[in-house]
Amino acid sequence: MIRVGIGYDLHRLVRGRPFILAGIRLQAKRGELAYSDGDVLAHAVCDALLGASALGDIGSLFPPSDERWKDADSMRMLASVYDLVRERGWNLVNLDCIVNCEEPRILDYRDEIRANLARVLRTEADRIFVKGKTGEGVGKVGKGRAVQVWATCLLDNPEKEA
Ligand code: MG
Repeated sequence: MIRVGIGYDLHRLVRGRPFILAGIRLQAKRGELAYSDGDVLAHAVCDALLGASALGDIGSLFPPSDERWKDADSMRMLASVYDLVRERGWNLVNLDCIVNCEEPRILDYRDEIRANLARVLRTEADRIFVKGKTGEGVGKVGKGRAVQVWATCLLDNPEKEA
C-alpha cells in the first residue's frame, strides 16, 4: 500500500529569534516566533508523515500546553514522529517541500537542509527535495513577517494490501 500525506505550517518572523529550518540556523534578520524552536519545515514534515500514516497531527502529539515542548528541538520531534510511522510498517518513498519566505534564499541552504532531513529520516538525500519561493511583496510573507511551508510525502507499507 502507498499513501500520500500533506503538511503545512506558518510562523510569524520577529527580531531577536533565530531562523531555523530543518535544524539549521540560517542567516536572517528575523526568526520564527514559537513555543518550540519554531522550525516551520520540521513541523510541516511531521504533519505530512502523520497525515499519510493517519497517526494524528503535531498538535495532538506535542501540545503547546505541555512544558516539555518549550523551546523543543523540532528535529527531535520529527525523529520521534518517524519512529512512530516506522513502527507501523511505513517507509518514506519521497518528501517534497516548498518554503515560502522573503529571506534567506533557500537555494543557498538546500543541500544542507536535504542532508539534515535525510539524516533524521534515515534515508538518502536523493529522496528529499526543498524549494524556496518568495512572497513577491504580497501579504505577511511578502513583507518578511512570516514564513510558511508545505510538505508532501509518499509512504509505502509492504505489509498492507492496497
Ligand atoms: Mg509550527
